[in-house]
Amino acid sequence: MAFDDVVRLAQQKGFFFRSAESYPNTPAGFWDYGPLGVSMRNKFVELWRRCIVKRDGMVEIDGAQILPKAVFEASGHLSGFTDPFVKCAKCGAVYRPDKLVEEKTGEQVPEKLSDSDYDSLMEKSGVKCQKCGSKLTGTGRFNMMFKVGIGPVQEEAYLRPETCQSIFVDFPLLFKTQRIKLPVGFAQVGRSFRNEIAPRQAVIRERELNQAEVEVFFNPARTDDPRFGELASTVLRFQTVGGEERAVSAADAVAQGIVPNRLIGHYLALLLRFYEAAGLAGEVLRFRVLSEEDRAFYSKAAYDLEVKLSLGWVELVACNYRSDYDLGRHSKQSGTDFRVDDNGEKVLPHVFELSMGVDRSIYAILENSMRVEGERRSLALKPYIAPMKAGVFPLVNKDGIPEMAEKLYSGLADEFDVFLDDSGSIGRRYARADEVGVPYCVTVDYDSLKDGTVTLRERDSRSQERVKAEELSSRLRGLTRFPPVFVTG
Ligand SMILES: [Zn+2]
Repeated sequence: MAFDDVVRLAQQKGFFFRSAESYPNTPAGFWDYGPLGVSMRNKFVELWRRCIVKRDGMVEIDGAQILPKAVFEASGHLSGFTDPFVKCAKCGAVYRPDKLVEEKTGEQVPEKLSDSDYDSLMEKSGVKCQKCGSKLTGTGRFNMMFKVGIGPVQEEAYLRPETCQSIFVDFPLLFKTQRIKLPVGFAQVGRSFRNEIAPRQAVIRERELNQAEVEVFFNPARTDDPRFGELASTVLRFQTVGGEERAVSAADAVAQGIVPNRLIGHYLALLLRFYEAAGLAGEVLRFRVLSEEDRAFYSKAAYDLEVKLSLGWVELVACNYRSDYDLGRHSKQSGTDFRVDDNGEKVLPHVFELSMGVDRSIYAILENSMRVEGERRSLALKPYIAPMKAGVFPLVNKDGIPEMAEKLYSGLADEFDVFLDDSGSIGRRYARADEVGVPYCVTVDYDSLKDGTVTLRERDSRSQERVKAEELSSRLRGLTRFPPVFVTG
């Protein structure tokens, strides 16, 4: 199964692996990134910055991870950030009733059911305790925030369950000091913490996760800014509330009422283009339109950008038109006026949110890039996402070849993520590089000593060419650079 293959590769090659694995009884849901994972994640985030944050002229912040209780009273997390859980009366095993039913029936369970609804769903679908086989009933609620105590008096505070609350809280100050005009996006990448009841599927459901979030603040009376037409021809795939799949342009999605306005159409298109640049092709992505029942009461429209994986469709980004709920609540709770000036008019901005799971995006890219041809395994990562840009291989370890390879490597290492590999046959070295998605390999051989050229080999085509060693930097720069993003149409 592809999932097991990806997790095995990730662990063996150092993309990501269970945290504190050598200790028994380490709680699930915590994952560490190794060298390749850190490098790939940095590149993924940099692509996000380029394609979304910089392209759109957004304001990037980095907020504290611990926030006072009052913030979460205002945001509604203290009362509402709960998941249903059921505990086996016989053996004490704890489950998410919705996930158990989904696994058993293969059907999606609506998000907002009552505790007794879950009990009857479990009864109806014949779900049993996976450990002891007992009947499960008595669904309860669990708040998923991690509580922390500040200072000796243990003042109540929480690890943020999402990165966006600091964006809302910081909005009035930054709007003023950064001379911002509406509409404007605020962006933040960082850790969030969720005390998941049953973390699983590796980095897909974690207790400590990396998020990249965007909150677009706008005047609800001005959602047809001309620049929201730039990406109007982008084709978006939707799964409608009725379950129908439709591929339409962003402009048509607005015209047909699938999307409420041009601003939201623009950001969905921007997001899709980013993921395409990251290496997820169009047909594996869709926007699932959330029904009114599945949305929060304040939400005017919501879409889950989902990716098709071996595990089924998995949410990558929650796109949510949150109205003025967040700013209104923080304004009320803090006693600060969160309204801002927009062309002489005082408005409490509305918010459209793009809340992205970074770790699951990395997983999705890895799974989608995995290629197996006979014995050969490779990762067809985009060169600018690949953790390593090139491997430098001396053909033999004698006759001045290692020295030339070493020199070449040091020159490249200044600018690129590259590595030197001098062990095993060239074929073995290519295979190791392919397996972790290295797009280019450079081999130094006897001809190199004579004419100063090296072999440059490309991963996917396996084509090879002779390149002058002194031109290698500029070649690699061209081959591995991020795609231009300021293209319109
Ligand atoms: Zn049990």
